[in-house]
Amino acid sequence: MRVLVLGGTGDANQLVAMLAQERACEVILSLAGRTSQPRLPQVPHRIGGFGGVDGLTSYIQCNNIDLVADVTHPFAAIMSGHAAEACARARIDLVRFERPEFASAAGDKWRNFASIEALAAALAGPPRRIFLSHGREGMALFARHPQHYYLVRSIEVPPDIDKLEQARLVLARGPFDLADEIALMREERIDTLVSKNSGGAATMAKIEAARQLGIEVLLLARPVKVAARSFAALDAMAAWILAHGRT
Ligand code: NAP
Repeated sequence: MRVLVLGGTGDANQLVAMLAQERACEVILSLAGRTSQPRLPQVPHRIGGFGGVDGLTSYIQCNNIDLVADVTHPFAAIMSGHAAEACARARIDLVRFERPEFASAAGDKWRNFASIEALAAALAGPPRRIFLSHGREGMALFARHPQHYYLVRSIEVPPDIDKLEQARLVLARGPFDLADEIALMREERIDTLVSKNSGGAATMAKIEAARQLGIEVLLLARPVKVAARSFAALDAMAAWILAHGRT
């Protein structure tokens, strides 16, 4: 069975490692090419967009793909939509990994926003010390609120970072440790954390650190993805894929 894994996440690398152990399974990992030094497991891979639904459909057909496993990030909604349409056209199965969202606990100071624009607009007001840990997007929007200090953490340098008047950039890739997150937020006297509701263990530490320090969290809600057969656990997903290959 030939499985195309749509990746760009640690979860995808874990799934690939599970499937690659099985002789019956040939895995190809696909990355968008957003980071210059991606973590690549020891399996065949390809990097770069497919060229929309048409491109992905033809990739599936030309490479005799039997099944697509969508293990992209919860915010990669376009890729997931294209995968659903291309699999329907090529008449092959699609399975998706959907990590559980961050779960709030009593006492959490969370505010949810549907878009980065709405979140940034909510930052009008007195000066804050804000930890931007949501990724690279929206720096120009935050620059409209120059009264705040921004600690920006990202894997690569975000576009428009130079527009932020008071900022420190930390280039780093998770997973992050709870003790380190607490130390960083204390050292930087952070009072506001901005994060995507990515869910998953790799980025949970900052949410837990904010909880323990009583810091307000501004959360970007996930985009809605088109319906697909989904799994919340990677081992169950791998088991389903392997069982599917035997039928
Ligand atoms: P997106 O908006 O859903 O996708 C935009 C386009 O990028 C797609 O139409 C596709 O181009 C290409 N693409 C995306 N994922 C791909 C993959 N795994 N393999 C080949 N092409 C891919 O995606 P995004 O939010 O920019 O995310 C891009 C990648 O970064 C994803 O692989 C995702 O898992 C990873 N990532 C995203 C985030 C995030 O916050 N969005 C966070 C961590 C990791 P074509 O139409 O040309 O095929």
